[in-house]
Amino acid sequence: MDTDLVIVGSGLFGLTMARRAAEDAGARVLIIEKRSHIGGNAYSHTDPETGIEVHTYGAHLFHTSNERVWEFVNRFTSFTNYVHRVYTTVDGVVYPMPVNLGTINQFFSAAYSPDEARALIASQAAEIDEGRADENFRTKGISLVGEPLFRAFFEGYTAKQWQTDPEDLPASIVSRLPVRYTYDNRYFSDTWEGLPTDGYAAWLERMADHPNITIMCDTDFFDESQPYHRDALVGKVPLVYTGPLDRYFDYSRGELGWRTIDFETEVKPVGDFQGTSVMNYGDRDVAYTRIHEFRHFHPERDYPRDKTVIAREYSRFAGRDDEPYYPVNTDADREKLLAYRELAKDEPKVLFGGRLGTYKYLDMHMAIASALSRYDAIVGPYLRGEDG
Ligand code: UDP
Repeated sequence: MDTDLVIVGSGLFGLTMARRAAEDAGARVLIIEKRSHIGGNAYSHTDPETGIEVHTYGAHLFHTSNERVWEFVNRFTSFTNYVHRVYTTVDGVVYPMPVNLGTINQFFSAAYSPDEARALIASQAAEIDEGRADENFRTKGISLVGEPLFRAFFEGYTAKQWQTDPEDLPASIVSRLPVRYTYDNRYFSDTWEGLPTDGYAAWLERMADHPNITIMCDTDFFDESQPYHRDALVGKVPLVYTGPLDRYFDYSRGELGWRTIDFETEVKPVGDFQGTSVMNYGDRDVAYTRIHEFRHFHPERDYPRDKTVIAREYSRFAGRDDEPYYPVNTDADREKLLAYRELAKDEPKVLFGGRLGTYKYLDMHMAIASALSRYDAIVGPYLRGEDG
């Protein structure tokens, strides 16, 4: 085979690794991709009826504070000045998310100063001893926002999103969201933020556009009827595998828990359905977790004024045939993960990467950062013949 490196999966981890290998080591890279398009879940398509860019696998917002990542991605796309803001509907009232001074004052119909709000939340969080805050999602959530806000904004939403008792979820999930004692309601706190000016698909295609990179879509690594399947490749050519870790090992140590998402997408005959890009729904009796309205991601574009595309998002446990999105990461999952990591160590010339390959809740910028550093540490030296 005239290939120096095979990459399974063309998400941001795989594409970044491919690009570095092709440019830095001059390696001939073959990417095999199960789907009919590249880009993993960051991919977007154009709705044929309205021309509106739809994030095919749910809203993807690019943000990073990592200068190297920002420089790297800017080689392939420019970014708009979009700033993500989220609102949440709870019990018939709309509040800004993440929790900030505006949310707190609106919720308590008050006019607290930052210090007064801090003191109030501290008293409502007092039931959680400081040493226990990091134990799980619930202890962390209550320690951050106090019991009443936790119940209103996190309990119902999380029950729908994870269908897992918050005491069995890791604290790290709720730590993704800031709590601010100012009226700053930006969703992210990173230095750089924006959306690819001419869309995700164009960005991802430019990353893959290099003479040393070949992509084969509609090619399933586990399908033995095609020549690039697992048994034909492992041990014979260096591999980067970015599919689900448990799938690689035929689930021999058990199935890892994943959440999948279903979208109910609709074109509405109105110019503006909800006035913002993402509206969360905290109430349990609303079956979806949130509604996306894609036109609001690109206010600078000339979209039709009488139509809009929305998608209601529903979350559930993933079966083997579903797209895995979020690692659930319960204690039982982490035990299986350790067993898989042991197996992974013995796989000849295979590097496991990305959200699915490492069972980690990685944002886009984290997947890119991880690929850049693992290229530097492992794949680059190997391809350049600097280590065995
Ligand atoms: N979350 C919540 N209420 C909200 C938004 C988020 O309870 O209105 C919780 C939920 O458990 C979610 C976690 O906070 O999984 C992290 O939120 P984030 O927006 O980072 O999740 P994403 O959908 O981007 O993965």
